[in-house]
Amino acid sequence: MLISCPYCGPRDLSEFTYQGDGNRTRPDPASTDQQAWNAYVYDRVNTAGDHHEIWQHSGGCRAHLMVTRNTLTHKVSAVAFARDAGHRKSDRHRMSGGAA
Ligand SMILES: [Zn+2]
Repeated sequence: MLISCPYCGPRDLSEFTYQGDGNRTRPDPASTDQQAWNAYVYDRVNTAGDHHEIWQHSGGCRAHLMVTRNTLTHKVSAVAFARDAGHRKSDRHRMSGGAA
């Protein structure tokens, strides 16, 4: 399996370290909602198809990447910096919050 790092180009999977599910949304750090934190820590979706995953290019530039991988074929369809994907989630959250 090849992952195309935005800095380094296509590299073998052995250069990357899986960092976790990229679909989870962390609750507000000030939140005391125990159910929300339990769901964040323990609940996982077992997707058959395209799945967002966070990988680190640990054997290269060390960038954290948001990789869209098909769990049935292992085909990687998109790679972006995880920090950019996080900003998009924050924007969505802020926009759906109704403030302003
Ligand atoms: Zn890289």
